[in-house]
Amino acid sequence: MDCIFCKILKGEIPAHTVYEDEHVYAFLDISQWTRGHTLIIPKKHVRNVYELNDETATVVAKAIPKVARALKEAFDPIGLNIINNNDKPHQTVYHFHVHLLPRYEDDGVVLNGTNQQDNLSDKDYRQIKESIIDALGKKK
Ligand code: AMP
Ligand code: ZN
Repeated sequence: MDCIFCKILKGEIPAHTVYEDEHVYAFLDISQWTRGHTLIIPKKHVRNVYELNDETATVVAKAIPKVARALKEAFDPIGLNIINNNDKPHQTVYHFHVHLLPRYEDDGVVLNGTNQQDNLSDKDYRQIKESIIDALGKKK
């Protein structure tokens, strides 16, 4: 399989490991949007969130606060974003990964926080909510 993160896991491509256990692996994102920008991945190849089973989701989730606290301790950021991209428009590597992005004063990072819709009616909120609840109740 032509997966760059599986190649890193197999040692075929180098990476800067920051944390590893039996099930997860954390390493520096090569692009370092900010100092300490880290990716956490399951060792099992999973394309993205839609394919995560409970076990794999759990091991990744458990690693997140562990690595986040280490980043806070190491770099004293003013904040930290946890980001996960699935399919379009942002996923470029199709092996599930979570970005831990320490934030610093004036770091220049722009996340799309300007998409707020303030014209929704109560009915809109109810319809949105009910669609999700319906879908959650549907057996796959
Ligand atoms: P995404 O857009 O969420 O799919 O993010 C993929 C991330 O993987 C990007 O931030 C890349 O910089 C990072 N990346 C790609 N190749 C490597 C690599 N060989 N080592 C470390 N990070 C990588
Ligand atoms: Zn993979």
